[in-house]
Amino acid sequence: PPALALVNVARRYKEGEGAIEVLRDASFAIEPGQSVALVAPSGTGKSTLLHLAGLLEHPDEGEVYIDGEATSGLPDRDRTRLRRLHVGFVYQFHHLLPELTALENVMMPQMIRGLSKKDAAARGGDLLGYLGLGKRLNHRPSELSGGEQQRVAIARALANAPRLVLADEPTGNLDPKTSDHVFGALTELVHATGVAALIATHNLELAARMDRRVTLRDGQVVELD
Ligand code: ADP
Ligand code: ADP
Repeated sequence: PPALALVNVARRYKEGEGAIEVLRDASFAIEPGQSVALVAPSGTGKSTLLHLAGLLEHPDEGEVYIDGEATSGLPDRDRTRLRRLHVGFVYQFHHLLPELTALENVMMPQMIRGLSKKDAAARGGDLLGYLGLGKRLNHRPSELSGGEQQRVAIARALANAPRLVLADEPTGNLDPKTSDHVFGALTELVHATGVAALIATHNLELAARMDRRVTLRDGQVVELD
């Protein structure tokens, strides 16, 4: 099945007496191993789409499938389980825990999932090594550069081998060269691991390097080029 599928999704927000329909009859799917750039002006519903895909919000109509599983009828407990198991998040700001080392930050989601310390450390070390941070395992976030911090955040998002990675401007606060490097690492990992990725970005050069580009138009997800 697709890693993520939205089928005829609508999402409305109350506004004064009425409502605005941010998504309307929107359908969209991402296959495993596919990277998709979400390139859309702000205010068009990017965050809403990412939150629906990450099971942080409910659609008003339609269905969101993660790895083939319909999610809208599930109790919150099961949505949280699915999210922890199958979805990784990367934000514009890394949100690493400052008192933990790089490796411990990447171990954390695995230990929450019940992996042993030994296994979590082994996978965390592998991921960080792959991202070029093999010599930074025991550094705290404050001892790392912005690009390194963001690579740790990417490793953390992939720590539980999710089906889907959702990223919101993951390189938005990095300089162009660092941004290029971090982005390259992210797309390489996507292809190497077979995870699917939906990455909101305003950077058209970076978007051009992904498998697909989509935008939001009148509440629908529309393919570009
Ligand atoms: P983007 O991420 O593209 O900037 P959003 O998904 O955040 O767009 O928002 C799309 C529209 O929906 C905006 O007009 C925003 O004001 C509105 N909106 C988003 N979230 C809420 C909410 N919780 N309550 C009311 N309106 C919202
Ligand atoms: P945890 O395992 O820490 O309890 P959850 O399972 O609730 O976290 O959430 C998983 C991911 O979703 C985390 O990366 C968290 O940062 C993110 N997340 C949770 N709630 C929100 C939210 N309201 N907005 C954006 N991201 C969120």
